[in-house]
Amino acid sequence: MDIKDIIIAIDGYSSTGKSSFAKRIASELGFLYLDSGALYRGVTLFALECGFIKDGVIDEQALEAALPALDLHFENHGEGTRLYQGNLCIERDIRTMRVSSFVSPIATIGFVRRYVDGKLREFGRQRRVVMDGRDIGTTVFPDAELKIFMVADSEVRAQRRMDELVAKGEKVNFEEILQNLSERDYIDSHRDISPLRQAKDAIVLDNTHMTPDQQMEWLLKLLQTRFSK
Ligand code: C5P
Repeated sequence: MDIKDIIIAIDGYSSTGKSSFAKRIASELGFLYLDSGALYRGVTLFALECGFIKDGVIDEQALEAALPALDLHFENHGEGTRLYQGNLCIERDIRTMRVSSFVSPIATIGFVRRYVDGKLREFGRQRRVVMDGRDIGTTVFPDAELKIFMVADSEVRAQRRMDELVAKGEKVNFEEILQNLSERDYIDSHRDISPLRQAKDAIVLDNTHMTPDQQMEWLLKLLQTRFSK
């Protein structure tokens, strides 16, 4: 299918499969994939490693002073993009439960959101981009031509997350994951700046009972009717 140069914004709750879906779209349509959550995770890893989070308390002043020098960028590795901090690939380190448990409080901070938004807009200057996150269709690219809002039952989401972490060799507990997801959803939907919201012009995709192939079929039909040249 020959698709026009558009931006596809995918938002939704934690672990609804946004990034797997976005990666597949990018590879099938030849689009650039940008994972905005990875940048929030990269900032969180940086804050933890610099000792800016102690006893669960974030030293915002120290983080704000250090953030401009933090070089986070994506590199393309065929099967998808990976996040780098300078020369170091941090893709694996940003996906741990330790980072997951601090990322949502970090993502409520205004200067952190400005830092991430600046990077996303810079990377997304070209039009053939698919980006996933919580506020892409509402704040980062409100003019995106296609906005999708993903939802799925929480137990199904927790199970998918657990399978991912187990496959990576992390020791995890189902209840802990379920609790982390609901805490992140709560913080993401209730923060003052760019809360997680369905954009007015977004289309809802509930993938609770859908396979990846069915989701792709759904998308291709949509693109065909709306955006094929
Ligand atoms: O997408 P992922 O679950 O990796 O994102 C990690 C966290 O980053 C989310 O729980 C959310 O707190 C934050 N985030 C955000 N805005 C985005 C993307 C992610 O606040 N656009």
